[in-house]
Amino acid sequence: MDITVAYFHPLLHPEVVKRDFERIRAAGADSIVYAVHEQEEQRWPRDLERGLVQAQDAGLKVYLSLGRFGNLFAGPSLVPSWYTFRHPQSRVMDRHGRPHDISCFNHESFRSWLFKEIEYYLGTYPINGILIDEPRGTDVTCFCSVCRALCPDVTDLPRFRRRSMIDFLGELCACVKRVDVDAKTMIVLLPQDLNQLDELALLPPLDTLGCHLFWSLLNEEIIQVEQWGRTVVEVAHRYEKRSQLWLQNFNLDEAGEEQLEIAFAQILNAEPDQIGCFYFWRNNLHPETAWQTTHRLLRRIPRRQLYWQVPGLTNHLVGKEVP
Ligand SMILES: [Zn+2]
Repeated sequence: MDITVAYFHPLLHPEVVKRDFERIRAAGADSIVYAVHEQEEQRWPRDLERGLVQAQDAGLKVYLSLGRFGNLFAGPSLVPSWYTFRHPQSRVMDRHGRPHDISCFNHESFRSWLFKEIEYYLGTYPINGILIDEPRGTDVTCFCSVCRALCPDVTDLPRFRRRSMIDFLGELCACVKRVDVDAKTMIVLLPQDLNQLDELALLPPLDTLGCHLFWSLLNEEIIQVEQWGRTVVEVAHRYEKRSQLWLQNFNLDEAGEEQLEIAFAQILNAEPDQIGCFYFWRNNLHPETAWQTTHRLLRRIPRRQLYWQVPGLTNHLVGKEVP
């Protein structure tokens, strides 16, 4: 079982980044998920490059998440998409002609912008894959001129919306593979979107199906974690995809902290190929405790042999729990 850790922190301070990546590595992770928002690459490309090279040097692969691009995906900052702001004509239009705050993925100009961004990131930085975080799009049926031209029968628009979203995500994954055949593609859903699993699993260029098992955030019973997890793993294996299950080790109060171990055990019971969690992510009552507990739980996962052979890892990082 592989471990990936979301690192949603600035890369501006190399010494801090180095320490963080060593801690993430010591927890047994072999990759990080790093999220960019549209403005970041323009404002601090040197920091981005140095930080991602630091990840590589620490033995961590990098999966890039396109934070809120087109307002279609989730992202660590609650900011609107710069593209959507500057291209208001690209927005989804509902049946009453009201624009919504996301770009319609059927707009050719939006697609070509997004795919060029992906090509640029993959061609410029040491990135091992693209993670599509909680794709949105089917909550509002789009009646924009592009969608109506593609689907003249308005009664069929809801079905068309759903189908074209799957096609769009497939094209996005195909774009990644065109640029770098070895780059991995991952789609991570919220539990309420698990009904899309089977259709997504049919996309040839998609490698990994994932789910954010955020029981506490979603006010769900903790038992749901295992049920959601098993659904994802079962579908992924049926279609020979990899499965990725995410632990909510953020936004935890005292009660949430106590349940962290149960949630983790439920994820292990589902036997995913990969487990994901967060490094010091937002709004924990006791941030240090949340990470230490996460670290201790992750250390229970049997390490792959590869881990022991990474050059430059000193002994204190290997084989011992951090106190
Ligand atoms: Zn549309």
